[in-house]
Amino acid sequence: MSKLTPESWLVSAGRPEQPGDPMNEPLVPASNFTLGGDRIYTRDTGAPGWESLETIVGGLEGGEAIAYSSGMAAAAAVFDQLSAGARIILPDDCYHGVSELARSGEAKGLWQLGRLAVDDTEGWVKACADGDLLWLESPSNPLLSVADLKTICAAPRKPDSIMVVDNTFATPLNQQPLQLGADIAMHSATKFIGGHSDLLAGVLVTNQPALVPGLRKSRVIKGATPGALEVFLAVRGLRTLALRLAKAQESAARLACWLESQDWVERVRYPGLESHSTHEIAAGQLGGFGGMISFDVVGGARAADALCHNVQLIRHATSLGSVESTMERRGAVPGQEHLPESLIRLSVGIESCADLLTDLEQAVAQSKVV
Ligand SMILES: *Cc1c(COP(=O)(O)O)cnc(C)c1O
Repeated sequence: MSKLTPESWLVSAGRPEQPGDPMNEPLVPASNFTLGGDRIYTRDTGAPGWESLETIVGGLEGGEAIAYSSGMAAAAAVFDQLSAGARIILPDDCYHGVSELARSGEAKGLWQLGRLAVDDTEGWVKACADGDLLWLESPSNPLLSVADLKTICAAPRKPDSIMVVDNTFATPLNQQPLQLGADIAMHSATKFIGGHSDLLAGVLVTNQPALVPGLRKSRVIKGATPGALEVFLAVRGLRTLALRLAKAQESAARLACWLESQDWVERVRYPGLESHSTHEIAAGQLGGFGGMISFDVVGGARAADALCHNVQLIRHATSLGSVESTMERRGAVPGQEHLPESLIRLSVGIESCADLLTDLEQAVAQSKVV
């Protein structure tokens, strides 16, 4: 990236540049192109908008970006790079789709799988010696634990091993894993990058040139190609990422403090709170504490379900990182039963913080949780 601040880069990068060009890379719904130019077939050679998305995210993270059809498609492309029998280490708290991907490969005998707590820095440093794929996610989904990436990413590693950080929760504005020593930063662009709950997309960014051909090839042969409309919308979302994130994390900080003061709340997990178990690492490592809060309510699953059903402005929905606030009881999601049963994950949007607070207050009153 040039000397522009990330805010200005988000607005200005990835635009057509010739006089008379449109301000935005046009949406080109084409599977194939007339032969004789650089593009042949979209799955192989891409569509024009892909490069805008890749330029913007790659510039922020400091590497070469490759766009995929979803965050999971991006994750699967990384797993495709492993040799038979590889040793994979995953965090104990991690996006459930990635867990499932790793577990299903393990069940087929493709690789061995180990797990470490997100905050077990010593364990991760040791695992670097013999792990082939070190998959980190920080802050983690949904417990919001922060890994000591500075220490882990700087640890001596087995040659040809791959260190990945799922950077979806932090966004490329709050954290740049490649600058800390990771090989790949991964994003579900479905979340904060798109920011409007209207697309699925994923991005990998790497500063290891040796990884690029394999990651691109996986996209081609598995058909993990992002759609033209999705890419157009993701680029449009990126233009306002800095504003959306700033608003979301300002409100999240206020809501987290308020939640902590409520007697119907058992525990609040937000990296910006001093009470958070990994607050000190978060403060030294993240540019901002993000827009995600997890909190456990008094009264178990029933109380949490009631609260989720009674919010009005906040939408009772899964997913995260959008302009509208959403919340759900994560333990109700199949495969997530290991979580505290009353844990609610709240994705803070860009509404007025006062209105969000009022909404939670009225939902509590309706639910009679106290
Ligand atoms: C949503 C999510 C994913 C998966 O991305 P999709 O776009 O849904 O495929 C991966 N990691 C994290 C942290 C996520 O929140």
